This record gives sequence, structure tokens and C-alpha cells, in this order.
Amino acid sequence: MAKLTGGCLCGAVRFEVVGDAVVSGGCYCRDCQAVAGGGAAYGMMFPAEALTITRGETRRFTSKAASGNDVHRDFCPACGVHLFSHNSGLTAFRAIKVGVLDDPSVFQSQGNVWAASAQPWHRPEPDLPRWDKNPEMALD
Ligand SMILES: [Zn+2]
Repeated sequence: MAKLTGGCLCGAVRFEVVGDAVVSGGCYCRDCQAVAGGGAAYGMMFPAEALTITRGETRRFTSKAASGNDVHRDFCPACGVHLFSHNSGLTAFRAIKVGVLDDPSVFQSQGNVWAASAQPWHRPEPDLPRWDKNPEMALD
């Protein structure tokens, strides 16, 4: 079974995730733009039980999604890098930020959400589906 590993920038938090992603894609919502440095946040969603933190602990920042659900963003308390997120309406899943994987090349985007919030200079992949807001399964 496939296993991916990753961690934050300073190395205080390490994790592994086993199995295949349920869905993969980019999110252009304004909150993800703030977290990601202006671009989309690319994520791979896995069943929550597939994810194991193997070193350290994360802290959590919670904000409101447009749906009214809580969006929980888990980050390293030492270096601040965001690692995981999940939505209170989808507690069985965790979205893992592609940038914190040891091998981000495994990411295969299936589309982009919150494209209505994309900036004029963003270039969402034209050959992939996009949704103005969230499709049925949120990435965050
Ligand atoms: Zn760190």
C-alpha cells in the first residue's frame, strides 16, 4: 500500500499517510491564498485514519467556512507551516498540503475549487475542471 511521508519546514512535525488520496486538487479561496503565499493551496484528501503524526504536535487555527462550518487548519507551532486541514462538515477526512510532502511530485490535481476567488494573474490549469465555490466534497 502506498505510503507518503512529510513534515514541516523546521522538522518538529513529521507525518505519514497510507493509502490512496480520495480526491486531490487546488483551492483558490482567499483564506488558502493567505496561507499558501498568494497561490492556490494544493491538497490531497485522505481518510482521517490514514494520517499519523510520527513526530511532534500541531496547533490548530479554526475559522468559519462560507458554509458556516468550521475549517480547522493544523500547523507547526515552531515554524508556523500549515500541514493539514479539515472541515467540521467532513470530519472523516484530512486534506494534506502538497507542499509539505517529501515528494510532492505524486500530486495529480483533479480540479480547482473556489475559482471565483482566483486573482486576475492566477492561471488555474485550463484542462482541469473548476468550481466557482465548493463542489460537493470540500478540499478544506
Ligand atoms: Zn516546524
